[in-house]
Amino acid sequence: MRTLAVVGGGAIGQGVAWQAAEAGWSVTLFDPAAGSGASWVAGGMLAPLSEGWPGEDRVLEFGAAALARWPEFAARLHAATGVDVMVADQTLTVALDAADAADLRTIADWVGEHGHELELLDRAGVRALEPALARTVRAGLLAAAEPAVDNRRLLRGLHAAGAAAGVRVRPETVADLAALDFDQIVLAAGAASARLLPELPVRPVKGEILRLRHRPGATPVPRRVIRARVHGRPVYLVPRGDGLVVGATQYEAGFDTTVTVGGVRDLIADAETILPGIAEYELSEANSGSRPGTPDNLPLIGRYSDRIVVATGHGRNGMLTTPLTVEAVLGELAGTPLPDARSAAPQRFATPPASLASSTGGIR
Ligand SMILES: Cc1cc2nc3c(=O)[nH]c(=O)nc-3n(C[C@H](O)[C@H](O)[C@H](O)COP(=O)(O)OP(=O)(O)OC[C@H]3O[C@@H](n4cnc5c(N)ncnc54)[C@H](O)[C@@H]3O)c2cc1C
Repeated sequence: MRTLAVVGGGAIGQGVAWQAAEAGWSVTLFDPAAGSGASWVAGGMLAPLSEGWPGEDRVLEFGAAALARWPEFAARLHAATGVDVMVADQTLTVALDAADAADLRTIADWVGEHGHELELLDRAGVRALEPALARTVRAGLLAAAEPAVDNRRLLRGLHAAGAAAGVRVRPETVADLAALDFDQIVLAAGAASARLLPELPVRPVKGEILRLRHRPGATPVPRRVIRARVHGRPVYLVPRGDGLVVGATQYEAGFDTTVTVGGVRDLIADAETILPGIAEYELSEANSGSRPGTPDNLPLIGRYSDRIVVATGHGRNGMLTTPLTVEAVLGELAGTPLPDARSAAPQRFATPPASLASSTGGIR
């Protein structure tokens, strides 16, 4: 049986480990704290259409290809573990002023040109769908086929599925990929991936995020993901069984994951502007994580050398792209690269320095 080391146990690494074990690989997953990285703090939106913007064609196409794989991926995970990860079926982006309403039209037109349908709503249309939203909301954009997942249930499910398929977990930090004695290695160490392959253009992008618990008598939780821009800052509300996730700040701060007073203040203020009733909710958690960012907002998925496949750089879309990434990595391991993942090929960035190429086998 061929041996595979997966380095990193976030959603990406655990997803790869599970599917590789099912495909017949003998899989060992290395992570000192599996499931504690960005995948633990994430919001769980699967929103490539609502996040679309003219010019970002490849990001849209990649995200749409990932979204299309979610129903089957979720069904397989459910069949393997009984875990249901879906928490909402639709996404509603709302506008508070004329400029934001114009942006919603721009998104709808551009995404429509790419063959994906979004529905523009007036004030009454928004209220009919989500009556608890603020009266200042003047327009909306409904993505009827953009759901959301509970990222923590996803991690639990992937862990259980991997264990059932025979994945062994070693709670260790890998310091040197070349020292791993396995036939193949998948690097899925999220924002820390460049510590192991320094030429990978992956950097941490900090994000703070809140979890609010619904209390008896408080405004009901919206049924859909709600997205908006308040004072120029993006904010989103993602339903959970017991409340809401409110996210997220975004800035460059290295690997710092301190939750700041300013971040929490802005998130609460912006969320309350959209859904005034959240003042009655319990603030149950404030957290922060490092998104694995890349220069062009597309991940790095593909063969790096004869022995190493990389699966990193998923930025703010790693939950969305998990099924596509897993399929692409399995394709690389089988020697049949996935056409839908071509735009994420790591070779689109610079060639590695000669020293690295010799120690790890180079970039192919
Ligand atoms: C605030 C926030 C909100 C987000 N919201 C969304 C969202 O709504 N939708 C969406 O699609 N995406 C979202 N994301 C992005 C998403 O969370 C990430 O893209 C995704 O989790 C990346 O998964 P990963 O497995 O690559 O990384 P991680 O989950 O960070 O996992 C990496 C793992 O590698 C391990 N590791 C690191 N170095 C080593 C080493 N040397 N040896 C062994 N193990 C190592 C770490 O311990 C960690 O467990 C959000 C991110 C943040 C921070």
